[in-house]
Amino acid sequence: MQGIARDALTDRLDSGHAALLYAALAGADTFVWDWDIDSDVLSDIDEGLLLLGYARHEVGRTQADWNQLIHPDDRAANHEAYLRHARGEAEVYEHAYRARAADGRWRWLLERGRVVERHADGRPRRMLGTQTDITERRAVEAAASEAMERLTRITHHVPGILFQFRALPDGSAAFPYVSERSHALFGVAPADLMQDAAVLLRRVDFGDRQAMLDSIAASARTLKPWRLDFRVHRRDGVLRWMRGEGSPQRQADGSTVWHGYIEDATERRELEQARHEAAVAAAANRAKTEFLSRMSHELRTPLNAVLGFTQLIEIDRAEPPSDGQRRRLKLIREAGAHLLQMIGDLLDLTRIEAGGMALQLDAVDLRALASEGLEMLRDSAEKAQVTLALADGGANAVAHADRTRLRQVLLNLLSNAVKYNRPGGSVEIRVLRVDAHEVLISVRDSGVGIAEAELPRLFEPFYRGPQAAASAVEGAGIGLSVTHALVTLMGGRVAVHSTPGAGSTFSVTLPAAP
Ligand code: ADP
Repeated sequence: MQGIARDALTDRLDSGHAALLYAALAGADTFVWDWDIDSDVLSDIDEGLLLLGYARHEVGRTQADWNQLIHPDDRAANHEAYLRHARGEAEVYEHAYRARAADGRWRWLLERGRVVERHADGRPRRMLGTQTDITERRAVEAAASEAMERLTRITHHVPGILFQFRALPDGSAAFPYVSERSHALFGVAPADLMQDAAVLLRRVDFGDRQAMLDSIAASARTLKPWRLDFRVHRRDGVLRWMRGEGSPQRQADGSTVWHGYIEDATERRELEQARHEAAVAAAANRAKTEFLSRMSHELRTPLNAVLGFTQLIEIDRAEPPSDGQRRRLKLIREAGAHLLQMIGDLLDLTRIEAGGMALQLDAVDLRALASEGLEMLRDSAEKAQVTLALADGGANAVAHADRTRLRQVLLNLLSNAVKYNRPGGSVEIRVLRVDAHEVLISVRDSGVGIAEAELPRLFEPFYRGPQAAASAVEGAGIGLSVTHALVTLMGGRVAVHSTPGAGSTFSVTLPAAP
């Protein structure tokens, strides 16, 4: 055993204890050095040299020699660290630097030391210290910080917050880790949350706080995943919905640690809500359709009986009705027929809505159909003192449509054009081949017209214009909605142009027959 340091220790300890102490230090890759500053002699650095792979006398024993082993980039800082301590600015000398090992590689050494003797004028005379090889430790630390940096970089691309949350058995809690997004989502810096977990709870809407505490407690008790939707008041005052999820793990000390994710779920919740409402509305609509379809079906049977027996009385030879009775019977029959018509429309409408209306598409000559329609409306037009006409042209207008349904459409439009007209007014049908793909049939009247504000509602089921509703004109507001639904089903479209007080034109465009 040589050197002042070892001597200094062995002065105080018996040699057995000193040997144990040195063995323990060596086990921790730590060695003791002793620097006589006046003579620049370093004692006791054999183990240090051995650690770097040098033989005992390969390196001189002065600080100047040792300096040659220090990485050139670290030398100035090393000297500066010594000076700070020598001048009394730092209580201890402490510095980590790279030293060249015998195999040419760099190893990281951490030195700590203290001036133990000074000259009378205060200049340092002797220094004692330790040297620890921290190469492996630094490699581990570097790997850890690299992993942390990688995680941080990943979190920048994640829309929500990644977190680690720890609840202790004493009821206290902390966020050991919160990713950067807490800034954007909560308006709270991750550092603030990591310092005090309660910062988050204070941002949670008052109404959701208890639920949050309860859900965390339940997850800690059962070790089932934590999941909660809660509202947060952002720093800018905006209230947002958050959705949090985390998996709990019990630790040896009884605490529970969750790793999880919190994201802004405001839009998603709105979407879920809208979807739910749409599903409810669709179900309600299906129920309504079903009800209407059954109702109209059930109404038709007794109504047909009423109409049938009315007719039987009208033609009864054995007990012929009087003229007065005949007039009243005619009123019953007309009102009944009208009712039957409305029920038929209603049934059509519900059938189309339920997707149960089958079409038979054929080539339909529009001019022929128009003349047929005019013929059927002749009586009621005469009664209303309205003239009906079919404009020239359109000899080649052939639609690809369901004949019966298209006739129904045309009759609806024609009867409206007559109904909402005035004595002395006129109705004109026009048919036209638009181009290779489309044909058009339009009904123009010189009637009361339709106010602009009414146009968007015209094709809604049961919509009747205020004038129509107030007048004696019969109707249930179903005709145009059936018309619209049928035309759409046939791949066409309906358009309206109207000038209040001057008249309206309804145009139906349909695919042309191939
Ligand atoms: P209804 O005729 O049974 O009321 P419709 O669905 O056929 O039902 O028409 C809806 C409403 O559109 C009518 O109540 C009326 O106000 C308006 N309307 C339809 N056709 C015309 C028209 N040619 N001229 C003026 N208003 C019309």
